[in-house]
Amino acid sequence: MTTKQTQQMHACVIGDPIAHSLSPLLHGAWIKAANINAKYARRHATKKEFNQAVKDCFSDPRFVGMNVTLPHKEAAKKIADCIDDTVKQAGAANLLTRKNGQLYARNTDIEGFSAPLLKARTVQHWKNTNIVILGAGGAARAALIGALSLKPGRIQIINRTQARAQVLAEGFGDKVEALDWSKREEALADASLLVNASSAGMTGKPPLDLSLQHISGDALVYDLIYTPQMTPLLCDAKAKGCAILGGLDMLIAQAKPSFEAFFGVPPPQHTDVKGLLLQALGEVS
Ligand code: NAP
Repeated sequence: MTTKQTQQMHACVIGDPIAHSLSPLLHGAWIKAANINAKYARRHATKKEFNQAVKDCFSDPRFVGMNVTLPHKEAAKKIADCIDDTVKQAGAANLLTRKNGQLYARNTDIEGFSAPLLKARTVQHWKNTNIVILGAGGAARAALIGALSLKPGRIQIINRTQARAQVLAEGFGDKVEALDWSKREEALADASLLVNASSAGMTGKPPLDLSLQHISGDALVYDLIYTPQMTPLLCDAKAKGCAILGGLDMLIAQAKPSFEAFFGVPPPQHTDVKGLLLQALGEVS
């Protein structure tokens, strides 16, 4: 065994605020299950402190990488020596590691968004379908890029502030269109997938103003919010007979490639991390 392997590996999640982050619980459970000599911490850094914090962390040879959360995802792209295509597409990074002595940035939110959809339904199922995405922030951008990889027939971006939806849709071709917020309910009539990538419905935020009366029971409704995991939107969708996915599915799926990038092994499959996270959120599995 080399010296490096006997040393404890360190990783963290960095953001502001960061106290609420579920990543330490998630990675901690996988570290324990995989029996790895590693520690995954939470690190608070303001926008001003971010660059120095990154330098400090990576100056420690035991440090293998960090997950980057709000508001630093764009700064993470800028500070990296090299970025992959996911960062170029998303314009932001959520994972920093070392690669050949350089700081390497990736964006695993895109994979985190699409992996649960591909687990729920085959890639063939999504081909030529209509997808509706609500929101136009960072989560909507990751969802849009992830949704495009499913080769749908059409993607409609609908945001409360339509101008932001238009900016997001630009450059993605004819398949992607921005609609006015007033069209959100009629757009659901032929949607196979509805994604809530807005923050409406999150604990402490106003509810999402949306009726599901036009959606088909065959559609899948995916809410990226995970506080709560079972949002009013998902409750309505379930009552309608739709398949549902919640924000924890995405959170776990985006963390998997991070774990492997940090520690060189995939997270153990048998660990019920979703149950653990639901427990931490005070929701029963
Ligand atoms: P963001 O950049 O702040 O964007 C928020 C979006 O929500 C904007 O498009 C905003 O519309 C819209 N919005 C806010 N309040 C609304 C309301 N009352 N009605 C309708 N639309 C409203 O946030 P973000 O980073 O994209 O995150 C969005 C959500 O995704 C958050 O809940 C976040 O927790 C979740 N998320 C989950 C994961 C995961 O792993 N599960 C990852 C990333 C994000 P305007 O443009 O009109 O303001």
